[in-house]
Amino acid sequence: MLRTIPDGVALVAVSKFHPVADLRQAYEAGQRLFGESRVQELVAKIPQMPSDVRWHFIGHLQTNKVRDIIGRTALIESIDTVKLIEVVNRQSAAAGVVTNVLMQLHVAAEETKYGFTPDELMAFFAHQDHLKFPAVRFCGVMGMATNTDDQTRIRLDFDTIASTFTNIKQSAPDLPDFNTVSMGMSHDYRLAIACGSTMVRIGTAIFGARS
Ligand SMILES: *Cc1c(COP(=O)(O)O)cnc(C)c1O
Repeated sequence: MLRTIPDGVALVAVSKFHPVADLRQAYEAGQRLFGESRVQELVAKIPQMPSDVRWHFIGHLQTNKVRDIIGRTALIESIDTVKLIEVVNRQSAAAGVVTNVLMQLHVAAEETKYGFTPDELMAFFAHQDHLKFPAVRFCGVMGMATNTDDQTRIRLDFDTIASTFTNIKQSAPDLPDFNTVSMGMSHDYRLAIACGSTMVRIGTAIFGARS
């Protein structure tokens, strides 16, 4: 399946709930980018894997857990509130690092999903609010489509994520690193790539079902 992902689209192997032995197997096969959604699990796995692994945090991040992952993640994909940006900025500055982040968009029909609406996110960048956080590097957006078999709805969600990204990129020229559109999971990554994804987050299709 890895072969169906074109050049220019990064593959994040979502290893949450899977044992380190499974991650090592993927590592041996050449995988270096791994995604985890729980701080405790991420922090436990980091020392058990080679140091050239790049870790992405992809889950809902509580502000009181930020400190545990600063300096240890290549990218926090799931920034879902301005409050969280403030904390990431503060903790990054204290640690002397700049943290790469994606802004999570909420476009799916489910109310349980986290993130900014497209309007909120476009307003954030239009107001130059990102310039208030010098220890945060804004690298793009992340989003999930509605969990449905309705391909039309999934495409609509991906189109909304991609067009929000393009709108921000065009309206805020002082965002040189804003280049990533993270969308697409095991069941919908092909459609996500067709809609402009540059980063897919795939768990089940690599590691099998989570227990
Ligand atoms: C679990 C998870 C994935 C991977 O889902 P699969 O369906 O197993 O590919 C991708 N993104 C996020 C945010 C997740 O929490």
